[in-house]
Amino acid sequence: MTDMNAIVGTHDILMITLDTLRYDAAVPEEANCPNLCGSGPWEKRHTPGSFTYAAHHAFFGGFLPTPANTNKAEHVRLFHSRNTGLKTHPHTWLFDTPDMVSGLAAAGYQTVCIGGVIFFSKKVPLARVLPGYFQQSYWRMTFGVTNPRSTEHQVNHALKLLGNTPLDQRLFLFMNVSAIHGPNHMFLPGARKDSVDSQRAALRYADGELGRLFDAFRKRGNPVFCLAFSDHGTAYGEDGYQGHRLAHDTVWNVPYREFIV
Ligand SMILES: [Zn+2]
Repeated sequence: MTDMNAIVGTHDILMITLDTLRYDAAVPEEANCPNLCGSGPWEKRHTPGSFTYAAHHAFFGGFLPTPANTNKAEHVRLFHSRNTGLKTHPHTWLFDTPDMVSGLAAAGYQTVCIGGVIFFSKKVPLARVLPGYFQQSYWRMTFGVTNPRSTEHQVNHALKLLGNTPLDQRLFLFMNVSAIHGPNHMFLPGARKDSVDSQRAALRYADGELGRLFDAFRKRGNPVFCLAFSDHGTAYGEDGYQGHRLAHDTVWNVPYREFIV
């Protein structure tokens, strides 16, 4: 596993949630996603939450998706609250704050959120809760689920911020990619409703845009640790289920990767 105590303090950290991406939509696109999967395949994991709000609270609390296996010894946490009385792994980074975002801020990181789906829109008090974890947070209509160029706009905004961040300032950039969340049929020519196939098309689109973000991080010249994963999947009629915020394999199983950019 990654030794987070060798990452925090020396690496910029990039966390990307590919909102609503199903595991079985991500795997067949590995060869078509050179930016997200250039260094390896997706790992199958279980999300701690069935929809954006629940899942992201867990993530920011340090509870990332867990390996989809029964061997708890492999379920080593990257981030964990300090002094809980629980035994932790030596590679786990411990934070002394209510959440890992403010924990990274306390460790000298600038924390930035680039929102995507509606829970990051800051338009109503509820939609200011998740962005409120960060020192800086941004959302524009063009970052949202209805814009067919949302990832391009999100990445463009991130590049502007990167350009204004001194090279010696450690950065924790979180981006919630909205493109794969419904509606996503606009990414598949001729499609009139969302499906696994249109998710796959949206993922290919998002991967293509994320390449510019990774290049910009590489140009900063600092090592970058990237976490890329889905917050939950979604059902397209399996066993009668539609959507997420419900318990079904299509929702709990999510793709997960961690890699050095
Ligand atoms: Zn979500």
